[in-house]
Amino acid sequence: MRIVTALGNHGLGVPDEDPTATPTELHFRRRAGRPLAGDRVEVDGDGAVSAILPRSSVFGRGTARGAFQPIAANLDTLLVVIAPEPAPSEDLLHRYLAAAWMQRIDPVVVINKCDLPVPGAPPFTDLADLDVEVHRTRAEPPADLDGLRARLSEGIHLLAGQSGVGKSSLANALLPDLGLQTGGLSHSTGKGRHTTTAARLHPLPGGGWLVDTPGVWEYGLWKMPVDELERGFPEFADAPDCRFRNCTHDHEPGCGVRSAADDGVVPPCRYRAWLRLLDEQRRLAADG
Ligand code: GDP
Ligand code: ZN
Repeated sequence: MRIVTALGNHGLGVPDEDPTATPTELHFRRRAGRPLAGDRVEVDGDGAVSAILPRSSVFGRGTARGAFQPIAANLDTLLVVIAPEPAPSEDLLHRYLAAAWMQRIDPVVVINKCDLPVPGAPPFTDLADLDVEVHRTRAEPPADLDGLRARLSEGIHLLAGQSGVGKSSLANALLPDLGLQTGGLSHSTGKGRHTTTAARLHPLPGGGWLVDTPGVWEYGLWKMPVDELERGFPEFADAPDCRFRNCTHDHEPGCGVRSAADDGVVPPCRYRAWLRLLDEQRRLAADG
């Protein structure tokens, strides 16, 4: 079975071979661990989840106290939605990119509201330097969605981005019967429609899954070792070796990453994002 949503010790799942089937309620046995939306699980004779199959990725966020909070498993794509308005924070895009690359999830940047002029400022102007796929869409009224639709026909894709960029509008445009589906889900869990902020998988009409996470989208990273943060910056691999093996690429002499950023081998916006996220890690470490 595939878990479409998880709420503590229970959730909803569908058969692997029939993603559009009406989800059935599943109890999670404690010894199986905590399944996440996106997990593939084994179900025992009593209809309870008895095991979680190995995950290809776990996407999550930092809590206010800097702990890792998992959101969904087995993501293939993180759709980072930005828009001309509300004006995006530069940090947020780079944080999402780092979080995706750390888990070997492919980030795809979606510039929504492409009916509005795109500002000639970061992070928009950074995109050309980054090794990420970019789609321009209009979700309300729906237009220019075919490229994105085609890109999503396989795999599990999560919609992320700050409030107001058009995530719900995109979900509604990509999932023509979303209203029906959420109605069906709330009916079968006996919960109100808007009472949960749990991630939920929706089968896309052309194949693939769209994960929607209602609720507030403040996004922060969690406390982690420097080498884990560095996995979120795969472009640093193009830099020459640093003099010190445990270099944090900050002020150390002989830093290959800093010299590569000076030469433009590493995109300068990524290096600046690294310094900001490194600072954030120091603050998180000092807080706790
Ligand atoms: P969310 O908070 O990310 O889920 O954003 P919503 O989907 O609620 O959209 C926020 C606002 O942006 C709403 O008023 C939408 O009608 C509007 N909106 C969404 N997509 C577009 C678009 O492509 N162009 C324009 N101009 N407005 C849009
Ligand atoms: Zn260095």
